[in-house]
Amino acid sequence: MGGPTVTFEQAVAKYDPVLGLEVHVELNTETKMFCGCPTTFGGAPNSQVCPVCLGLPGSLPVVNADAVASAMRIGLALNCRIAPWSRFARKNYFYPDMPKNYQISQYDEPIAVDGYLDVDVEGETYRIGIERAHMEEDTGKSLHMGGSTGRIHGADYSLVDYNRAGIPLIEIVTKPITGTGDKAPEVARAYVTALRDLLRALQVSDVRMEQGSLRCDANVSLRPSPEAVFGTRTETKNVNSLRSVERAVRYEIERQADVLSAGGVIVQETRHWHEDTGRTTAGRTKEEAEDYRYFPEPDLAPVAASEEWVEQLRATLPEPPAQRRARLQQDWGFTDLEMRDVVNAEAVDLIEQTVAAGASAAGAKKWWLGELARRSNDSGVALADLGIDPDGVARIETLIAQGSLNDKMARQVIDGILAGEGTADEVVASRGLVLVSDDGALTAAVDEAIAANPDVADKVRGGKVAAVGALVGAVMKATRGQADAGRVRELLLEKLGVEG
Ligand code: ADP
Ligand code: MG
Ligand code: ZN
Repeated sequence: MGGPTVTFEQAVAKYDPVLGLEVHVELNTETKMFCGCPTTFGGAPNSQVCPVCLGLPGSLPVVNADAVASAMRIGLALNCRIAPWSRFARKNYFYPDMPKNYQISQYDEPIAVDGYLDVDVEGETYRIGIERAHMEEDTGKSLHMGGSTGRIHGADYSLVDYNRAGIPLIEIVTKPITGTGDKAPEVARAYVTALRDLLRALQVSDVRMEQGSLRCDANVSLRPSPEAVFGTRTETKNVNSLRSVERAVRYEIERQADVLSAGGVIVQETRHWHEDTGRTTAGRTKEEAEDYRYFPEPDLAPVAASEEWVEQLRATLPEPPAQRRARLQQDWGFTDLEMRDVVNAEAVDLIEQTVAAGASAAGAKKWWLGELARRSNDSGVALADLGIDPDGVARIETLIAQGSLNDKMARQVIDGILAGEGTADEVVASRGLVLVSDDGALTAAVDEAIAANPDVADKVRGGKVAAVGALVGAVMKATRGQADAGRVRELLLEKLGVEG
């Protein structure tokens, strides 16, 4: 099957895209939404379950107050109204990884409604309306075994892990997003990015898209003009990275434009995003709300959030991420471009902590965005997970500033820290990394370098000062990189009788 024949540019010239983004975020509460089971990621299958989250007959759910507080803080940070009265509902459907055959969710009485989040794309601000944020519980996870793809097709059998069943989940649903035109894919990505940053600042989730603690479904429809009624939407699932959000929206705009241009119709359905091919394929035809037979959860009391509680939580809201970035950029004296690199590298927090630990902003940026970013890219491990912390980087910066390490040796210290050899100081001691700036120790090496390279020495004597670099290199080599290069240069020039 070929891809769309309509290009993206043709698609957005002919049609006006409308988006709707549904983001599920797993909260980082200690325990699950309605029971006391732990929520830690990666436990042995079915080791974090109990009668409540397994849906055994006779068990009764109890609401996790921390999860409700997180939901309310999310709602407040998204400029929502917090409902003074909010109820849980049963959403009935069958799924092997959902043990009760219904999911406890919220339906017509969600905890937070009617907010917005501003996002910037290329200097322009788009206000994304928030329809609602509601509480629900996550499902378990099916593992399809024996096939090559991990999908159910071609598998020999399936296993179910209920550890995730019952983990608190907040679903954040936008109002239809209009007026984005050809920027629709970028706006979608910018929204999920801004939302992720906000949730991270709130410290309510570890927001790891690759681990599924932040998941996005992208609804897309096209209409002939901004004045027309909305077209039929599709809902693309499994969009597991920020880049995929952008790509999936873009693809769906092209695909729908292709269908519509050929006189076809879009059917309301879920679609699956395929990272490898960059395409979506049809899933199930979308059920309507009534198919779920929602009804109020009889085992749970409604949540009635007092005004005092709401105001107490409002007082805990962090500085909005965009404002914080602007403040830090100012403090650090970074250009817009530099700050964008820092943000893209997800190094804002790391640099902030490195500076707090005593490094200069420029020094902190140099290591996190240079050497360490390179290692992060090579290994596919996030910067924050590399195994060196801001204190370590700050210590290395301090040692360089004191003149006890040069950059080359600093890289060896990093090697040592990442290899688990201890702190920066421990690695310096155990690897014998001492910057030789003592003239006595350097003079012999300097004399040798001059003797071994008479031609170069003559050139320098004759006024070609730049040629001294080759001699500095020779000394550095002889001292295995542990000499203070600046001092070596001074000594060489002194010996050769030229002014630096
Ligand atoms: P569902 O139950 O199908 O998940 P939701 O109401 O939870 O429905 O989410 C639907 C999302 O799609 C919302 O973000 C909504 O604003 C958006 N949406 C609704 N109609 C359209 C449309 N015609 N085109 C694009 N997005 C739409
Ligand atoms: Mg939904
Ligand atoms: Zn449990």
